[in-house]
Amino acid sequence: VKEVPVSTLHNEFPPGSVEAKDMQYMLHPTTNLKLHAQKGPLVNERAEGVYIWDNQGKQYLEGMAGLWCTALGYGNEELADVAAQQMKKMSYSQLFAGKTNEPSVLLAEKLVAMAPFDASKVFFGLSGSDANDTQIKLMWYYNNALGRPEKKKIISRTRGYHGVTIGSGSLTGLPAFHNAFDLPMAGVVHTDCPHFYSGGLAGESQAQFVDRIVNSLEDLILTEGPETIAAFVAEPILGAGGVIVPPAGYYPKIQAVLDKYEILFIDDEVICGFGRTGQAFGAQTMDIKPTTMSVAKALSSAYLPISAVLLPEFMFDAFAQVSDELGVFGHGFTYSGHPVCAAVALRNLEIMEERALFAHAADVGAVMQTRLQEFADHPLVGEVRGEGLIAGVELVKEKQPRVPFPLSQGVAAYCAAACQEAGLVVRNIGDTIAFCPPLIITEAQVHEMADKFAAGLNDTLAWVSKSGSH
Ligand code: PLP
Repeated sequence: VKEVPVSTLHNEFPPGSVEAKDMQYMLHPTTNLKLHAQKGPLVNERAEGVYIWDNQGKQYLEGMAGLWCTALGYGNEELADVAAQQMKKMSYSQLFAGKTNEPSVLLAEKLVAMAPFDASKVFFGLSGSDANDTQIKLMWYYNNALGRPEKKKIISRTRGYHGVTIGSGSLTGLPAFHNAFDLPMAGVVHTDCPHFYSGGLAGESQAQFVDRIVNSLEDLILTEGPETIAAFVAEPILGAGGVIVPPAGYYPKIQAVLDKYEILFIDDEVICGFGRTGQAFGAQTMDIKPTTMSVAKALSSAYLPISAVLLPEFMFDAFAQVSDELGVFGHGFTYSGHPVCAAVALRNLEIMEERALFAHAADVGAVMQTRLQEFADHPLVGEVRGEGLIAGVELVKEKQPRVPFPLSQGVAAYCAAACQEAGLVVRNIGDTIAFCPPLIITEAQVHEMADKFAAGLNDTLAWVSKSGSH
C-alpha cells in the first residue's frame, strides 16, 4: 500500500494520530467527503450509560442514541457477559438448510410474542437495510407464489428513510441517497410526506391536508394500476427525514385506501421499535395495523448488529406452497440468526422488560417533549415535534409565514456543532435538530440535555444575528 504523505492532508493532526490515519484510510458513510478531508474526524473513545468521551477527554451527553440505536445506553456488562458466554459456547451457527440454534429460536419466539399484529414467523438479518430488502423480496415472492407476477411495486414516501442498499435505498425518499447512485430502481414509487408544517398549503387545515395526501395516494395507485402494487412501506414516525410525526387520523385513512386495493403494509420499526415512542412499537402509538414489520437498532441496543422481519402465517403459507415447485426458499445471509447477536438481543429485550423501559420512555419522554416545547418561542424555532423519546426542533429564518434558511447557510449544522461544543450530541437533518437519547436517560439528564441545547441554540442565534441574516 502506497503511503500518502500526511503533509498532503489539510489538517493539523499529528502524523500517526488516529485522526490523520482516519483521513488517510477511511471512506466515511454519509459524510461530506471534501469537508471531512479539511476538518478531520471526531474520535469517540469510550462511553458509559448516556455519556460519551472523545479522545481529548471531553464528555458529551448522548442525545441521539448513536444512530437512533443505543437504547440501553453504553457499557452494559450483562450484555457483554452474554456475548462472551455465547462466543465460548458456540460462536457461530447457520440457519441454512434446516439447521438452527437456540438463541435465534428463542429470540424469534420472543418477537412473535411481542408483535403488535398477527406475526407468526421471523427472518433474521444484520441491518435495517437488509431487513427492508428482505421485505421487498418477500412481497415479490409472495405475489409470484399467488400467481400475480404483475403485483410487485412498492409505494414509499418522500423523506422516508429505509436504508441504503439498492432496494432499501430505493424505498428511501431522500435525494442524498439517490443522487449519482442511479436510484431509485424501477418498481418503487414515492407518495407525499405526511408533514403538515412543511407540506400544508396556505389556508389549509390539518384535516384537509390529510385528506389531500390520502387522495393523492389513491390517485397514484390508480395511475400506476392497483394490480401492479404489492405494498406500502412506512416508518410510523419518520426519523432520518427530520423526525416527522404524521397527523392524527393519517394512518387509518391511508390504510383504508391500501386495503381497498389489496396493498400490504410494511411497518418499518427500525427506529420506533422497542419503546422509542413510549410504547413497544410505533404502530401502537400511531394507530397502524402492520402486515409485516422490520426491526433492528434497539433490538440489540446496537451491542451487536441484528435485524428481523416479522411476517404473518398467510405469507409463510404461500411460500411453503411453492416449495415443491421451487425447491429452497433462496434467500438468507451467512449471519442470519447469528447466535451471539441473537443471545445479546434476547437479553437486551428481557432487560428492557425487567426495567419497564417502555413505560420509562413514556414518562421521561413527556418531560423531554415539554422541555423542548419551551423552545417553540425561540426566534430561530419554527416547529417542535415528537413523541416519547424522539423529537425534532426545526429551525427557520422567519416564523410566520414560515421561511426556511437557505440550506447553504448551514444553520442547523452550526447549531449541532454548537451543541457538541456545549457537550451534547444531537444531529442536524436539513433544518431540523433531532433528539433520540438512550431509553435509560433519567429525568435529570433530560433537563441537562435541554439546558445544553439552549446553550447551543443561543450560540447559533448570536452567530446568525452577527452574519446579519436574521
Ligand atoms: N429503516 C429506518 C427507519 C432507519 O432509520 C434505518 C437507519 O437509520 C434503516 C432502516 C436502515 O438501517 P441500517 O442503517 O441498519 O441499514
